[in-house]
Amino acid sequence: MAFFPSSGFHYHEVYSGGNRNGKSISLTFDDGPDPVLSPMILEVLKKYKIRAGFFLIGKRISGNEALVRQMSDYGHVIGNHSYSHTNLWDFRSSAKMAADMNKTSEAVKSVTGKKIHFFRPPFGVINPMVSGAVRKTGMKIVTWRFRSFDTTASSAEGLIEKTVKKVRPGDILLFHDSCRLTAGILEKLIVSLHERGLDFVPPDELLNLPAYE
Ligand SMILES: [Zn+2]
Repeated sequence: MAFFPSSGFHYHEVYSGGNRNGKSISLTFDDGPDPVLSPMILEVLKKYKIRAGFFLIGKRISGNEALVRQMSDYGHVIGNHSYSHTNLWDFRSSAKMAADMNKTSEAVKSVTGKKIHFFRPPFGVINPMVSGAVRKTGMKIVTWRFRSFDTTASSAEGLIEKTVKKVRPGDILLFHDSCRLTAGILEKLIVSLHERGLDFVPPDELLNLPAYE
């Protein structure tokens, strides 16, 4: 779609990672909460005392409130990953996107009492409408530097090997807590990344940016 004005349009600042010279990285999980897989992931993170980021799809919160509360209580960062996560998201007006995003933020606030600040666009697309919606809602766009492609990975070993080889200090890593493969490899992955000398911090700490208002 040729929809970009030739001038006067500026993308919002996008936060995708932190300091390259340290040893910290940040795990983030999209598309939850998932009633089966998110608890498995939370269990592993707790075992290794790791706080991560969860970018939630708003329509999945209903019925999974206890899970969202558990994420928040442990100190994981909760972000907004739209309410609908529809394939048609990229074609919506900024007003419709903002209304959709607000529904997720309100759902999270009603469960955790926190007003969330981070937004990760569905499918990672940042177009002028997304930028307009972010301006309207006052949120910050938080993306990633390392995309695991976990949902389309063909083998556990391959996913671990690629991740351990390619991740660098300062990276925000994108996984999905809706992905069975990810839930299955997480412990091995954490151990391997620790062995590489990397530490895990939540994304707000890596970015030095407040996750809540
Ligand atoms: Zn997604």
